[in-house]
Amino acid sequence: MPGYDVQLDWAARDGVCQPCPMCRAAGPHAIHVSVHSPASPAPGAAFYRCRACDGLFAHPFVWPDYADDYGFPDYLRFYVEAGAGLAAMAEPLHRAWRPDMSTMIDVGSGVPFAADFARRMLGLDARSIDPSRYAKAGGEWLGVPVDSALLGGGSTADGKVFDLVYSSEVVEHVESPQAFLDTLARHLSPRGVLVVTTPNADFVSPSRAPLENLGLVWPGIHHALYTPGGLKAAISRAGLGHVRISVERERLVAFASHTPLSPGHGDPASIPSWLKEGAQTAASPALRMGYLYRLFQSEAGHGRRAHALDWLAQLRDAVREGTGQDITDSGAIADAAAALDARAFHEEWPYFAPLMPHLLGSVAMLETGRDLPAATTHFAHQVRICETFRGGDPLWRAEIAHLWASTLFSYGLARLMQRDHGEAVEAFERLLAGDAPAGSLSAMGRRDAGLIAQARIQLGSALIQAGRKGEARKALESARVDADAVHHPVIDGLLARCGQS
Ligand SMILES: [Zn+2]
Repeated sequence: MPGYDVQLDWAARDGVCQPCPMCRAAGPHAIHVSVHSPASPAPGAAFYRCRACDGLFAHPFVWPDYADDYGFPDYLRFYVEAGAGLAAMAEPLHRAWRPDMSTMIDVGSGVPFAADFARRMLGLDARSIDPSRYAKAGGEWLGVPVDSALLGGGSTADGKVFDLVYSSEVVEHVESPQAFLDTLARHLSPRGVLVVTTPNADFVSPSRAPLENLGLVWPGIHHALYTPGGLKAAISRAGLGHVRISVERERLVAFASHTPLSPGHGDPASIPSWLKEGAQTAASPALRMGYLYRLFQSEAGHGRRAHALDWLAQLRDAVREGTGQDITDSGAIADAAAALDARAFHEEWPYFAPLMPHLLGSVAMLETGRDLPAATTHFAHQVRICETFRGGDPLWRAEIAHLWASTLFSYGLARLMQRDHGEAVEAFERLLAGDAPAGSLSAMGRRDAGLIAQARIQLGSALIQAGRKGEARKALESARVDADAVHHPVIDGLLARCGQS
Protein backbone atom coordinates (compact mmCIF):
# COMPACT_ATOMS: atom_id res chain seq x y z
CA MET A 1 0.00 0.00 0.00
CA PRO A 2 1.32 3.48 -0.78
CA GLY A 3 2.50 5.61 2.14
CA TYR A 4 2.00 9.23 2.99
CA ASP A 5 4.05 11.90 1.28
CA VAL A 6 4.66 15.20 3.09
CA GLN A 7 7.68 17.37 2.43
CA LEU A 8 8.57 20.79 3.79
CA ASP A 9 11.33 22.77 2.12
CA TRP A 10 12.72 25.57 4.29
CA ALA A 11 15.37 26.81 1.84
CA ALA A 12 15.24 30.58 1.29
CA ARG A 13 14.11 31.53 -2.22
CA ASP A 14 13.04 34.60 -4.16
CA GLY A 15 10.37 36.79 -2.61
CA VAL A 16 6.99 37.90 -3.89
CA CYS A 17 5.76 41.49 -4.33
CA GLN A 18 2.13 40.65 -3.50
CA PRO A 19 0.80 42.89 -0.66
CA CYS A 20 0.44 41.02 2.66
CA PRO A 21 -3.23 39.96 3.01
CA MET A 22 -3.10 40.70 6.77
CA CYS A 23 -1.44 44.13 7.01
CA ARG A 24 -1.33 45.18 3.30
CA ALA A 25 2.45 45.87 3.48
CA ALA A 26 3.99 45.89 0.00
CA GLY A 27 6.62 43.24 -0.84
CA PRO A 28 9.03 41.82 -1.44
CA HIS A 29 8.22 39.17 1.17
CA ALA A 30 10.62 36.22 1.41
CA ILE A 31 9.43 32.65 1.06
CA HIS A 32 9.36 30.86 4.45
CA VAL A 33 8.40 27.29 3.56
CA SER A 34 7.29 25.32 0.50
CA VAL A 35 4.91 22.52 1.36
CA HIS A 36 4.31 19.40 -0.69
CA SER A 37 1.38 17.22 0.40
CA PRO A 38 -0.35 15.49 -2.54
CA ALA A 39 -3.24 14.15 -0.41
CA SER A 40 -4.21 17.67 0.77
CA PRO A 41 -6.94 19.71 -0.98
CA ALA A 42 -4.11 21.27 -3.06
CA PRO A 43 -0.93 19.27 -3.73
CA GLY A 44 1.39 22.01 -2.54
CA ALA A 45 1.75 25.63 -1.49
CA ALA A 46 4.37 28.30 -0.91
CA PHE A 47 4.01 30.30 2.31
CA TYR A 48 5.67 33.73 2.51
CA ARG A 49 6.63 35.62 5.67
CA CYS A 50 5.44 39.25 5.66
CA ARG A 51 8.39 41.58 6.14
CA ALA A 52 6.20 43.99 8.17
CA CYS A 53 3.92 41.87 10.42
CA ASP A 54 5.81 38.50 10.35
CA GLY A 55 2.56 36.71 9.47
CA LEU A 56 2.61 33.84 6.93
CA PHE A 57 0.50 33.76 3.78
CA ALA A 58 0.05 31.35 0.89
CA HIS A 59 0.54 32.71 -2.61
CA PRO A 60 -0.93 32.06 -5.08
CA PHE A 61 -4.08 30.85 -3.30
CA VAL A 62 -7.23 29.38 -4.85
CA TRP A 63 -10.23 29.34 -2.51
CA PRO A 64 -11.83 25.93 -2.07
CA ASP A 65 -15.60 25.58 -2.19
CA TYR A 66 -16.42 25.48 1.53
CA ALA A 67 -19.87 24.07 0.78
CA ASP A 68 -17.96 20.99 -0.41
CA ASP A 69 -16.71 19.96 3.11
CA TYR A 70 -13.02 19.99 2.07
CA GLY A 71 -13.79 17.34 -0.54
CA PHE A 72 -14.02 14.76 2.29
CA PRO A 73 -17.31 12.88 1.84
CA ASP A 74 -17.49 11.53 5.40
CA TYR A 75 -16.40 14.78 7.05
CA LEU A 76 -19.42 15.16 9.34
CA ARG A 77 -18.93 11.77 10.98
CA PHE A 78 -15.16 12.30 11.31
CA TYR A 79 -15.71 15.71 12.90
CA VAL A 80 -18.37 14.56 15.34
CA GLU A 81 -16.72 11.28 16.36
CA ALA A 82 -13.14 12.45 16.78
CA GLY A 83 -12.04 15.49 14.75
CA ALA A 84 -13.61 18.36 16.68
CA GLY A 85 -11.88 19.60 19.85
CA LEU A 86 -15.10 20.05 21.80
CA ALA A 87 -13.52 21.16 25.08
CA ALA A 88 -11.16 23.54 23.25
CA MET A 89 -14.17 25.01 21.46
CA ALA A 90 -16.19 25.63 24.62
CA GLU A 91 -13.32 26.75 26.83
CA PRO A 92 -12.84 30.33 25.47
CA LEU A 93 -16.61 30.85 25.68
CA HIS A 94 -16.86 30.22 29.39
CA ARG A 95 -13.76 32.40 29.86
CA ALA A 96 -15.49 35.32 28.07
CA TRP A 97 -19.03 34.90 29.38
CA ARG A 98 -20.62 37.35 31.87
CA PRO A 99 -24.07 36.99 33.45
CA ASP A 100 -25.30 40.23 31.82
CA MET A 101 -24.85 38.74 28.31
CA SER A 102 -27.88 37.46 26.43
CA THR A 103 -26.91 36.80 22.80
CA MET A 104 -24.15 34.92 20.96
CA ILE A 105 -23.22 34.25 17.33
CA ASP A 106 -20.71 31.71 16.01
CA VAL A 107 -19.38 32.81 12.61
CA GLY A 108 -18.08 29.94 10.45
CA SER A 109 -19.24 27.47 13.07
CA GLY A 110 -18.85 24.10 11.40
CA VAL A 111 -21.13 21.73 13.34
CA PRO A 112 -22.70 24.21 15.82
CA PHE A 113 -21.25 22.71 19.02
CA ALA A 114 -20.24 26.16 20.34
CA ALA A 115 -23.77 27.57 19.96
CA ASP A 116 -25.13 24.39 21.56
CA PHE A 117 -22.78 24.91 24.54
CA ALA A 118 -23.76 28.60 24.76
CA ARG A 119 -27.45 27.71 24.75
CA ARG A 120 -27.35 24.81 27.18
CA MET A 121 -24.64 25.89 29.64
CA LEU A 122 -24.50 29.70 29.40
CA GLY A 123 -28.22 30.35 28.82
CA LEU A 124 -27.56 32.49 25.74
CA ASP A 125 -29.77 33.06 22.71
CA ALA A 126 -27.12 31.59 20.37
CA ARG A 127 -27.02 31.13 16.61
CA SER A 128 -24.61 29.73 14.00
CA ILE A 129 -23.60 30.83 10.52
CA ASP A 130 -21.71 28.54 8.12
CA PRO A 131 -22.04 27.80 4.39
CA SER A 132 -20.83 24.17 4.55
CA ARG A 133 -23.01 21.09 4.13
CA TYR A 134 -21.65 19.29 7.18
CA ALA A 135 -22.46 22.29 9.40
CA LYS A 136 -26.11 22.23 8.34
CA ALA A 137 -26.42 18.45 8.73
CA GLY A 138 -24.66 18.59 12.12
CA GLY A 139 -27.04 21.36 13.19
CA GLU A 140 -29.95 19.04 12.51
CA TRP A 141 -28.36 16.40 14.78
CA LEU A 142 -27.85 18.97 17.53
CA GLY A 143 -31.18 20.74 17.07
CA VAL A 144 -29.37 24.04 16.47
CA PRO A 145 -30.30 25.79 13.19
CA VAL A 146 -27.39 26.86 10.97
CA ASP A 147 -27.76 29.81 8.62
CA SER A 148 -26.00 28.69 5.38
CA ALA A 149 -24.60 32.13 4.56
CA LEU A 150 -21.73 34.53 5.19
CA LEU A 151 -21.98 37.25 7.85
CA GLY A 152 -22.42 40.59 6.07
CA GLY A 153 -23.23 38.73 2.84
CA GLY A 154 -26.99 38.29 3.18
CA SER A 155 -27.19 36.29 6.44
CA THR A 156 -30.12 36.69 8.83
CA ALA A 157 -27.73 38.24 11.38
CA ASP A 158 -26.52 41.08 9.13
CA GLY A 159 -26.76 44.45 10.88
CA LYS A 160 -27.61 42.93 14.29
CA VAL A 161 -25.27 43.07 17.29
CA PHE A 162 -24.38 40.29 19.75
CA ASP A 163 -22.90 40.15 23.27
CA LEU A 164 -20.56 37.30 22.32
CA VAL A 165 -19.19 37.15 18.78
CA TYR A 166 -17.23 33.93 18.36
CA SER A 167 -15.21 32.77 15.37
CA SER A 168 -12.97 29.76 15.80
CA GLU A 169 -10.39 28.74 13.15
CA VAL A 170 -11.97 30.81 10.35
CA VAL A 171 -9.94 34.01 9.82
CA GLU A 172 -6.99 31.98 8.46
CA HIS A 173 -9.20 30.73 5.58
CA VAL A 174 -10.68 33.98 4.24
CA GLU A 175 -9.55 36.13 1.31
CA SER A 176 -9.32 39.37 3.32
CA PRO A 177 -8.63 38.69 7.01
CA GLN A 178 -8.89 42.40 7.92
CA ALA A 179 -12.28 42.80 6.21
CA PHE A 180 -13.46 39.68 8.07
CA LEU A 181 -12.32 41.04 11.47
CA ASP A 182 -13.96 44.41 10.62
CA THR A 183 -17.24 42.57 9.93
CA LEU A 184 -17.04 40.67 13.23
CA ALA A 185 -16.35 43.92 15.15
CA ARG A 186 -19.35 45.66 13.52
CA HIS A 187 -21.64 42.93 14.88
CA LEU A 188 -20.45 43.33 18.50
CA SER A 189 -22.69 45.01 21.10
CA PRO A 190 -21.20 48.03 22.99
CA ARG A 191 -20.14 45.91 26.02
CA GLY A 192 -19.79 42.65 24.05
CA VAL A 193 -16.72 40.44 23.75
CA LEU A 194 -15.24 39.19 20.49
CA VAL A 195 -13.50 35.78 20.71
CA VAL A 196 -11.31 34.74 17.76
CA THR A 197 -9.12 31.64 17.60
CA THR A 198 -6.64 30.96 14.79
CA PRO A 199 -3.34 29.12 14.22
CA ASN A 200 -0.18 30.80 15.52
CA ALA A 201 2.28 31.73 12.71
CA ASP A 202 5.17 31.73 15.22
CA PHE A 203 4.64 27.99 15.80
CA VAL A 204 5.66 27.07 12.23
CA SER A 205 9.27 25.94 12.41
CA PRO A 206 11.73 23.41 10.92
CA SER A 207 12.18 22.04 14.46
CA ARG A 208 8.53 20.84 14.56
CA ALA A 209 7.30 17.51 13.23
CA PRO A 210 5.92 17.54 9.64
CA LEU A 211 2.29 17.05 10.70
CA GLU A 212 2.53 19.79 13.35
CA ASN A 213 3.62 22.22 10.62
CA LEU A 214 1.13 20.90 8.08
CA GLY A 215 -1.70 21.64 10.52
CA LEU A 216 -0.82 25.32 10.01
CA VAL A 217 0.70 25.63 6.53
CA TRP A 218 -2.05 23.48 5.03
CA PRO A 219 -1.98 23.60 1.21
CA GLY A 220 -5.23 24.74 -0.40
CA ILE A 221 -6.96 25.41 2.94
CA HIS A 222 -5.08 28.00 5.02
CA HIS A 223 -4.47 31.38 3.41
CA ALA A 224 -3.06 33.68 6.12
CA LEU A 225 -1.62 33.03 9.59
CA TYR A 226 -1.16 35.82 12.16
CA THR A 227 1.53 36.17 14.78
CA PRO A 228 0.25 37.19 18.25
CA GLY A 229 1.32 40.80 17.64
CA GLY A 230 -0.12 40.87 14.12
CA LEU A 231 -3.50 39.59 15.33
CA LYS A 232 -3.61 42.16 18.13
CA ALA A 233 -2.85 45.00 15.70
CA ALA A 234 -5.47 43.77 13.21
CA ILE A 235 -8.22 43.58 15.86
CA SER A 236 -7.26 47.09 17.06
CA ARG A 237 -7.56 48.34 13.45
CA ALA A 238 -11.07 46.84 13.41
CA GLY A 239 -11.94 49.43 16.07
CA LEU A 240 -11.74 47.42 19.31
CA GLY A 241 -9.61 49.27 21.83
CA HIS A 242 -9.14 46.42 24.34
CA VAL A 243 -7.46 43.25 23.02
CA ARG A 244 -5.87 40.35 24.89
CA ILE A 245 -4.08 37.56 22.99
CA SER A 246 -3.53 34.22 24.69
CA VAL A 247 -0.83 32.05 23.04
CA GLU A 248 -1.75 28.38 23.49
CA ARG A 249 0.98 26.47 21.68
CA GLU A 250 -0.08 26.27 18.02
CA ARG A 251 -3.25 28.29 18.63
CA LEU A 252 -3.96 31.96 19.35
CA VAL A 253 -7.06 32.92 21.32
CA ALA A 254 -8.01 36.61 21.13
CA PHE A 255 -10.49 38.36 23.44
CA ALA A 256 -11.48 41.91 22.43
CA SER A 257 -14.01 44.57 23.32
CA HIS A 258 -14.84 48.28 23.15
CA THR A 259 -14.67 48.36 26.95
CA PRO A 260 -11.99 47.00 29.33
CA LEU A 261 -11.99 43.17 29.47
CA SER A 262 -12.99 41.64 32.79
CA PRO A 263 -12.41 38.01 33.79
CA GLY A 264 -15.24 35.74 32.64
CA HIS A 265 -17.68 34.17 35.08
CA GLY A 266 -18.02 30.74 33.44
CA ASP A 267 -17.56 27.52 35.39
CA PRO A 268 -14.98 25.04 33.97
CA ALA A 269 -17.17 22.16 35.23
CA SER A 270 -19.79 23.24 32.71
CA ILE A 271 -17.78 21.56 29.91
CA PRO A 272 -17.94 17.96 31.24
CA SER A 273 -21.57 18.60 32.24
CA TRP A 274 -22.31 19.64 28.67
CA LEU A 275 -20.65 16.51 27.26
CA LYS A 276 -22.61 14.28 29.67
CA GLU A 277 -25.88 15.96 28.76
CA GLY A 278 -24.98 15.58 25.08
CA ALA A 279 -24.28 11.85 25.50
CA GLN A 280 -27.68 11.36 27.13
CA THR A 281 -29.69 13.32 24.56
CA ALA A 282 -27.71 12.64 21.32
CA ALA A 283 -29.98 12.20 18.32
CA SER A 284 -27.50 10.16 16.25
CA PRO A 285 -25.23 7.18 17.06
CA ALA A 286 -22.12 9.06 15.81
CA LEU A 287 -22.89 11.99 18.10
CA ARG A 288 -23.47 9.73 21.12
CA MET A 289 -20.24 7.80 20.48
CA GLY A 290 -18.38 11.11 20.00
CA TYR A 291 -19.48 12.50 23.37
CA LEU A 292 -18.78 9.21 25.19
CA TYR A 293 -15.33 8.93 23.59
CA ARG A 294 -14.40 12.43 24.77
CA LEU A 295 -15.66 11.73 28.29
CA PHE A 296 -13.61 8.50 28.43
CA GLN A 297 -10.58 10.26 26.94
CA SER A 298 -10.78 13.09 29.48
CA GLU A 299 -11.13 10.82 32.53
CA ALA A 300 -8.37 8.49 31.29
CA GLY A 301 -6.13 11.51 30.66
CA HIS A 302 -6.73 12.74 34.22
CA GLY A 303 -5.95 9.30 35.64
CA ARG A 304 -9.41 8.83 37.16
CA ARG A 305 -9.71 5.09 36.67
CA ALA A 306 -13.20 4.45 38.06
CA HIS A 307 -14.78 7.27 36.06
CA ALA A 308 -12.87 6.28 32.93
CA LEU A 309 -14.11 2.69 33.22
CA ASP A 310 -17.71 3.87 33.68
CA TRP A 311 -17.56 5.87 30.45
CA LEU A 312 -15.73 3.05 28.70
CA ALA A 313 -18.56 0.64 29.53
CA GLN A 314 -21.09 3.04 28.01
CA LEU A 315 -18.86 3.69 25.00
CA ARG A 316 -18.43 -0.04 24.44
CA ASP A 317 -22.22 -0.53 24.41
CA ALA A 318 -22.77 2.44 22.09
CA VAL A 319 -20.12 1.26 19.60
CA ARG A 320 -21.40 -2.31 19.68
CA GLU A 321 -24.92 -1.03 19.00
CA GLY A 322 -23.79 1.36 16.24
CA THR A 323 -21.20 -0.80 14.46
CA GLY A 324 -21.19 -4.30 15.95
CA GLN A 325 -17.51 -3.89 16.92
CA ASP A 326 -15.81 -4.24 20.32
CA ILE A 327 -13.97 -0.95 20.90
CA THR A 328 -11.96 -2.48 23.79
CA ASP A 329 -10.42 -5.13 21.50
CA SER A 330 -7.12 -3.45 20.59
CA GLY A 331 -5.95 -6.48 18.60
CA ALA A 332 -9.01 -6.39 16.35
CA ILE A 333 -8.56 -2.63 15.75
CA ALA A 334 -4.87 -3.10 14.90
CA ASP A 335 -5.62 -6.05 12.57
CA ALA A 336 -8.24 -4.00 10.71
CA ALA A 337 -5.91 -0.98 10.48
CA ALA A 338 -3.22 -3.17 8.92
CA ALA A 339 -5.58 -4.91 6.48
CA LEU A 340 -7.82 -2.05 5.29
CA ASP A 341 -7.23 1.42 3.93
CA ALA A 342 -8.70 4.31 5.94
CA ARG A 343 -11.94 4.51 4.01
CA ALA A 344 -12.74 0.80 4.36
CA PHE A 345 -11.56 0.84 7.98
CA HIS A 346 -14.03 3.60 8.91
CA GLU A 347 -16.91 1.79 7.27
CA GLU A 348 -16.43 -0.74 10.09
CA TRP A 349 -14.99 1.30 12.95
CA PRO A 350 -15.60 4.78 14.44
CA TYR A 351 -13.05 7.52 13.73
CA PHE A 352 -11.65 7.36 17.28
CA ALA A 353 -10.95 3.62 17.09
CA PRO A 354 -7.28 4.02 15.95
CA LEU A 355 -6.64 6.11 19.10
CA MET A 356 -8.24 3.70 21.58
CA PRO A 357 -5.40 1.24 22.38
CA HIS A 358 -3.24 4.04 23.79
CA LEU A 359 -6.06 5.12 26.11
CA LEU A 360 -6.85 1.54 27.13
CA GLY A 361 -3.17 0.98 27.90
CA SER A 362 -2.97 4.20 29.89
CA VAL A 363 -5.91 3.13 32.06
CA ALA A 364 -4.25 -0.29 32.59
CA MET A 365 -1.08 1.53 33.77
CA LEU A 366 -2.87 3.52 36.50
CA GLU A 367 -1.63 2.59 39.97
CA THR A 368 -5.07 1.67 41.21
CA GLY A 369 -5.57 -1.71 39.53
CA ARG A 370 -2.40 -1.76 37.44
CA ASP A 371 -2.35 -4.56 34.85
CA LEU A 372 1.06 -4.49 33.16
CA PRO A 373 0.54 -7.37 30.69
CA ALA A 374 -2.69 -5.76 29.46
CA ALA A 375 -1.01 -2.34 29.17
CA THR A 376 1.89 -3.83 27.21
CA THR A 377 -0.50 -5.50 24.76
CA HIS A 378 -2.58 -2.35 24.21
CA PHE A 379 0.52 -0.21 23.66
CA ALA A 380 2.03 -2.72 21.20
CA HIS A 381 -1.20 -2.66 19.16
CA GLN A 382 -1.20 1.16 19.20
CA VAL A 383 2.36 1.28 17.84
CA ARG A 384 1.34 -1.15 15.09
CA ILE A 385 -1.63 1.06 14.14
CA CYS A 386 0.60 4.15 13.96
CA GLU A 387 2.96 2.26 11.66
CA THR A 388 0.42 0.59 9.35
CA PHE A 389 -2.61 2.91 9.03
CA ARG A 390 -2.95 4.09 5.42
CA GLY A 391 -5.19 6.28 3.28
CA GLY A 392 -6.60 9.78 3.05
CA ASP A 393 -5.04 13.09 3.99
CA PRO A 394 -2.41 12.48 6.71
CA LEU A 395 -3.48 15.69 8.43
CA TRP A 396 -6.85 14.16 9.34
CA ARG A 397 -4.89 11.32 10.98
CA ALA A 398 -2.35 13.53 12.75
CA GLU A 399 -3.58 12.45 16.20
CA ILE A 400 -2.61 8.87 15.33
CA ALA A 401 0.83 10.02 14.17
CA HIS A 402 1.40 12.01 17.37
CA LEU A 403 0.75 8.89 19.47
CA TRP A 404 3.68 6.89 18.13
CA ALA A 405 6.44 8.40 20.31
CA SER A 406 4.38 8.66 23.50
CA THR A 407 3.09 5.10 23.10
CA LEU A 408 6.57 3.67 22.52
CA PHE A 409 7.62 5.43 25.72
CA SER A 410 4.69 3.97 27.67
CA TYR A 411 5.40 0.55 26.16
CA GLY A 412 9.05 0.78 27.24
CA LEU A 413 8.00 1.79 30.74
CA ALA A 414 5.52 -1.09 31.03
CA ARG A 415 8.24 -3.53 29.89
CA LEU A 416 10.71 -2.03 32.35
CA MET A 417 8.24 -2.47 35.21
CA GLN A 418 7.89 -6.13 34.20
CA ARG A 419 11.69 -6.49 34.15
CA ASP A 420 11.67 -7.19 30.38
CA HIS A 421 14.85 -5.13 30.07
CA GLY A 422 15.72 -6.09 26.51
CA GLU A 423 12.28 -5.09 25.19
CA ALA A 424 12.40 -1.86 27.19
CA VAL A 425 15.84 -0.93 25.83
CA GLU A 426 14.67 -1.62 22.29
CA ALA A 427 11.55 0.56 22.67
CA PHE A 428 13.45 3.55 24.11
CA GLU A 429 16.16 3.20 21.45
CA ARG A 430 13.56 3.12 18.64
CA LEU A 431 11.87 6.21 20.06
CA LEU A 432 15.15 8.13 20.39
CA ALA A 433 16.34 7.11 16.92
CA GLY A 434 12.97 8.10 15.39
CA ASP A 435 13.05 4.64 13.85
CA ALA A 436 9.58 4.70 12.24
CA PRO A 437 8.69 3.19 8.83
CA ALA A 438 9.24 5.75 6.05
CA GLY A 439 6.00 7.14 4.64
CA SER A 440 3.97 5.97 7.65
CA LEU A 441 1.99 8.26 9.92
CA SER A 442 4.40 7.40 12.73
CA ALA A 443 7.27 8.99 10.80
CA MET A 444 5.54 12.39 10.75
CA GLY A 445 4.24 12.85 14.29
CA ARG A 446 5.26 15.00 17.26
CA ARG A 447 8.46 14.34 19.24
CA ASP A 448 7.95 16.26 22.45
CA ALA A 449 11.25 17.50 23.95
CA GLY A 450 10.17 16.57 27.49
CA LEU A 451 9.32 13.05 26.36
CA ILE A 452 12.71 12.68 24.64
CA ALA A 453 14.49 13.76 27.83
CA GLN A 454 12.49 11.22 29.86
CA ALA A 455 13.18 8.48 27.30
CA ARG A 456 16.95 9.06 27.55
CA ILE A 457 16.77 8.69 31.34
CA GLN A 458 14.60 5.56 31.16
CA LEU A 459 16.95 4.05 28.56
CA GLY A 460 19.79 4.49 31.06
CA SER A 461 17.71 2.83 33.74
CA ALA A 462 16.78 -0.10 31.45
CA LEU A 463 20.43 -0.62 30.44
CA ILE A 464 21.48 -0.72 34.11
CA GLN A 465 18.83 -3.31 34.89
CA ALA A 466 19.98 -5.33 31.87
CA GLY A 467 23.50 -5.31 33.33
CA ARG A 468 24.86 -3.19 30.44
CA LYS A 469 26.44 -0.62 32.75
CA GLY A 470 29.03 0.75 30.35
CA GLU A 471 26.40 1.59 27.76
CA ALA A 472 24.16 2.98 30.50
CA ARG A 473 26.89 5.33 31.71
CA LYS A 474 27.50 6.59 28.17
CA ALA A 475 23.77 7.16 27.53
CA LEU A 476 23.23 8.91 30.86
CA GLU A 477 26.31 11.13 30.60
CA SER A 478 25.14 12.34 27.20
CA ALA A 479 21.56 12.77 28.47
CA ARG A 480 22.85 14.86 31.37
CA VAL A 481 24.49 17.36 29.00
CA ASP A 482 21.13 18.25 27.41
CA ALA A 483 18.87 17.75 30.44
CA ASP A 484 17.29 20.52 32.52
CA ALA A 485 18.89 20.87 35.95
CA VAL A 486 15.72 19.49 37.49
CA HIS A 487 16.58 16.05 36.03
CA HIS A 488 20.21 16.06 37.25
CA PRO A 489 19.60 14.40 40.65
CA VAL A 490 17.80 11.45 38.98
CA ILE A 491 20.51 11.09 36.33
CA ASP A 492 23.28 11.36 38.95
CA GLY A 493 21.54 8.70 41.05
CA LEU A 494 21.49 6.35 38.05
CA LEU A 495 25.10 7.19 37.14
CA ALA A 496 26.14 6.22 40.67
CA ARG A 497 24.69 2.76 39.99
CA CYS A 498 26.80 2.35 36.83
CA GLY A 499 30.04 1.94 38.80
CA GLN A 500 33.47 3.11 37.67
CA SER A 501 34.65 2.75 34.10
ZN1 LIG B 1 1.80 41.65 6.97
